Amino acid sequence: MNKHNVVICPACGSQRVSRSEYENSNQLTLGSKFSFKEVLYTCNTCGEEGDFFAETDKNYLAAQKAAQLNLIKKILEDLHSNGISMALIERVFELPPRTLTRWKNGDFSSSALSLLRIIFTYPWIIEVAENKFEKNISCSAILTAAAQEIKDQQINMVFYSKKSNSTSTTVVNDIHQPIKKPPTSL
Ligand SMILES: [Zn+2]
Repeated sequence: MNKHNVVICPACGSQRVSRSEYENSNQLTLGSKFSFKEVLYTCNTCGEEGDFFAETDKNYLAAQKAAQLNLIKKILEDLHSNGISMALIERVFELPPRTLTRWKNGDFSSSALSLLRIIFTYPWIIEVAENKFEKNISCSAILTAAAQEIKDQQINMVFYSKKSNSTSTTVVNDIHQPIKKPPTSL
């Protein structure tokens, strides 16, 4: 909407309309917080209020898309630094070549983002996919991941219990606290 155009109240046709903007924000799943402008028009003649040109929606979608693109890039960087290339992901999930390059360049769908969130949270799914989702291999991957998780938690518990000795907190209390950092936002 061009701010220089005369705004006419959709309810009464008056031109005595004022415009205000508010900063709002939302949190992207696994990603960062993003902010956007909420727009509100108020008719000073009849009192009608609203976002007459649906500007808030546009602002929200643009800010969300930017945060999503950021998340995609960060997930791909994270995978790359763990030795998982875009070509490998394309191959094991049977995606057309250069699909991930398209995503990285901003041409992505909600399903693309969903797949990357799943891969990021459960990286062992790549090995499962590489083996055509074969049942025995997928079971073994889940059990291996679970065993590793338990081992990590035990290491954390030892770490916390050592810490608690010096701070006089009991180990029992520590067990009920988050003992492993949850997957953090990128
Ligand atoms: Zn009005």
